[in-house]
Amino acid sequence: MIKVVKFGGSSLASAGQFAKVGDIIRSDENRKYVVPSAPGKRNAKDIKVTDMLYDCYAAAEAEEDFKIILKKIKERYDSIINGLNLKISLEEEFRVIAENFADKAGVDYAASRGEYLNGIIMAAYLGYEFIDAAEVVFFNKDGEFDAEKTDKILSKRLKKCERAVIPGFYGAKDDGRVCTFSRGGSDITGSIVAKAAGADLYENWTDVSGFLIADPGIIENPKVIKVITYRELRELSYMGATVLHEDAVFPVRKAGIPINIRNTNQPEEEGTLIVESTCHHSKYTITGIAGKKGFVAVNIDKDMMNSEVGFGRKVLSAFEQNGISFEHMPSGIDTMTVFVHQEEFEGKEQQVLSAIHRLAQPDTIDLEADLALIAVVGRGMRSTRGTAGRIFSALSHANVNVKMIDQGSSELNIIIGVANNDFETAIKAIYDIFVTTQL
Ligand code: ASP
Repeated sequence: MIKVVKFGGSSLASAGQFAKVGDIIRSDENRKYVVPSAPGKRNAKDIKVTDMLYDCYAAAEAEEDFKIILKKIKERYDSIINGLNLKISLEEEFRVIAENFADKAGVDYAASRGEYLNGIIMAAYLGYEFIDAAEVVFFNKDGEFDAEKTDKILSKRLKKCERAVIPGFYGAKDDGRVCTFSRGGSDITGSIVAKAAGADLYENWTDVSGFLIADPGIIENPKVIKVITYRELRELSYMGATVLHEDAVFPVRKAGIPINIRNTNQPEEEGTLIVESTCHHSKYTITGIAGKKGFVAVNIDKDMMNSEVGFGRKVLSAFEQNGISFEHMPSGIDTMTVFVHQEEFEGKEQQVLSAIHRLAQPDTIDLEADLALIAVVGRGMRSTRGTAGRIFSALSHANVNVKMIDQGSSELNIIIGVANNDFETAIKAIYDIFVTTQL
């Protein structure tokens, strides 16, 4: 069995955290390939090494003295090395980095050094081979990830070594220049390595005990989701709930490898398993709740709309012409409503309205702003009666007025529109009816 383990920045922020990670890896011999992030924050006021590197390189580019920040970065690594009693030195590495910064080696190169150096320490600490991601992860000349080339070269390389550390977040273009993924991109590297290694499981270790049923900023101590499908995850992430970089899903999903989100500080907890499909039923019927504020409803009325062929297309093309994407579109016989992001819409409001008038000749258009959308997601809804009934009776008891309801035919989610002001109350009411009352 092969497990690929990725550790986030807070899991590797200090020697103490490294020691926890070492224990986790050594406690299971299947944990063969390790993908580290750069050291993250040790406390709320701390700065991530990646952010220090961006600052440091900005100073180098501006021809200012960047060596002071670089020295601080070196101190962070030295404290990890000393705290672990390792006999390695990063002196030579930092000399090269300083030289490359002075030569303006590029912002991606600069940012990538956080994971690169952490990888060297991790490999020495575990006694694993170190594989520089620049030799096995590739980007094309436009900076897009080259999945095919990477998979070919990386899988060949991994076959030759039984245990290795591959730093996250970066790779290289054909000309050898370092290129990074977007922020949080070590999650993607972990997924790529899992695919190339033909892993049975991709463990993503972080500082929370998994994906939570609802936002902890709204619900106190929400329960953890035990098992979630990729589709449910997509629905919830789209609505703002995140633990993983969005692009981390694709490589492993294609290869049918599950992802397990785990907590480095509480390794005894099982975390969340993300899978393609499952027979596992959630104890709570629903899998999760997420939502976003800041939508506008554009209500369009026209007598006999129902019999006018092409009316919807004309209305939507008014949005398209102004570069505005729509979120939901519930409709009646002679009315349709288009939900759009308030931020995107505000500046172009009058252009869109006149385009709708011109293209579709409606009777009236009426706008309602400051709305929130809440997604109640769950594969279990398909086989359970009364889910919608429970949601709406909970909302009515909480005095929340429902402005819009949208249930996809997949029965995977129910989307509810409420006023921004009712957002938190609505989420609490839904959480309580499905989770708190079931405990
Ligand atoms: N260190 C990078 C960042 O802070 C990448 C990562 O941690 O995944 O975004």
